[in-house]
Amino acid sequence: MSNDARTSSVRAERERAITAAVRQELINQEQPVVGLLNLTGVRRTAAELHAAFTFPGVDVLHTFAVKAAALVPVLRHLAREGVGAEVASPGELAIARAAGIPAPHIVLDSPAKTETELKEALAAGIAINADNPQELSRIDALVRRAPTTSPIGVRVNPQVGGGSIGAMSTATATSKFGVALRDEGAEEWIVQAFLQRPWLTRLHTHTGSQGMPLTLMAEGIATAYTLAEKINAAAGRQQITVLDIGGGLPVNFSSDETKPSFRTYAQTLQTAVPGLFGGRYGIVTEFGRSLVAKQGVVLARVEYAKSAGDRAIAVTHAGAHIATRTVFAPESWPLRVEARDASGNPKTGQKVPQDVAGPCCFAGDLVARDRPLPLLEQGDLVALLDTGAYYFSNHFAYNSLPRPAVYGYTTGAADSVHFEILRKPQTLDQLVAESGG
Ligand SMILES: *Cc1c(COP(=O)(O)O)cnc(C)c1O
Repeated sequence: MSNDARTSSVRAERERAITAAVRQELINQEQPVVGLLNLTGVRRTAAELHAAFTFPGVDVLHTFAVKAAALVPVLRHLAREGVGAEVASPGELAIARAAGIPAPHIVLDSPAKTETELKEALAAGIAINADNPQELSRIDALVRRAPTTSPIGVRVNPQVGGGSIGAMSTATATSKFGVALRDEGAEEWIVQAFLQRPWLTRLHTHTGSQGMPLTLMAEGIATAYTLAEKINAAAGRQQITVLDIGGGLPVNFSSDETKPSFRTYAQTLQTAVPGLFGGRYGIVTEFGRSLVAKQGVVLARVEYAKSAGDRAIAVTHAGAHIATRTVFAPESWPLRVEARDASGNPKTGQKVPQDVAGPCCFAGDLVARDRPLPLLEQGDLVALLDTGAYYFSNHFAYNSLPRPAVYGYTTGAADSVHFEILRKPQTLDQLVAESGG
């Protein structure tokens, strides 16, 4: 699909879903905020990922970073498109298993794996990327005790530097992730670690999520590739057979255009690391945000419209409990916020600077500040665009606000929109029970 065609279908499908969600009363008095995920769009994006990383003679396993949308049905839909799961905690692993993802399609990257977690992954044959020398020693003891079919690798930090968001940059000099390759003696240590362990067969690197320039991501992967070549030369055989290149493709939050595309990234890698797709290495990827972000929208009711000190303020049901990063780090995580009427149609009229506030009891709970929008009124709706990744599963329990429902949608012939529940809204009874009641 061409860029323009994709951009217009993303927009058209979203328009239909928003008005249908209102018509079908998915958003109402009891459920004043909902998440909607375009399942057709997710499938289309997965197909684009497969197409971009198809190279003759190269085995590629695409996994989805579960933290980006930790919802069982989402993983099931992705699994149908041949996408596995990258998991970083026992909870994420349980979610991946519940979605029926087979062990060979799962990669375990938890930063603080317990011995129990390692033991279970090794018993199940799930791939593991060790983060540090102590973890590797634990794995040593476990593989001595029981044989495993798990592919095992080591995560390296190429220390190529950070991007525009510090908290998202995992390849800085002092990042907490992986073995820091440029530290004194680290590279020699890693070569020896592989030579002493014939069962170590992978190198893993993930240089960051959002805000990283593609060239820097490619530089990180080039560093891992060069190290793999060095290790294989020292071993006198192809000991490293798979390179896990992580995820981290940034997402454009300022328009409906998907950029950079998976294809652009694959081409950047091909240029920067010519041997990467040459057929000697299998490839694992771990994209999260870029697979789902643009397919999601948060829809919330405007409960009240007011003003203070000449500032128009819309008090809505979308706040820090669902848009946590946007509220706490608005410069790093700006969102497009649209003004909609009660039927879900875009509001027109002169734009007035407004604050779009959430329902939480603290002053900073704003998803947009001083933003020019058609004046929002009581009973209107706001739509938070590009929220398919990291907004539907990383809720924040402030004020005991319940987790909202998330619906998947597919658009059919004529005007039909089919919704399926991806996550039921949390009930007050559940909320009380989880609060020790
Ligand atoms: C978060 C994470 C990913 C996914 O990052 P995105 O920016 O969502 O693509 C992949 N791999 C690891 C190890 C991660 O921590």
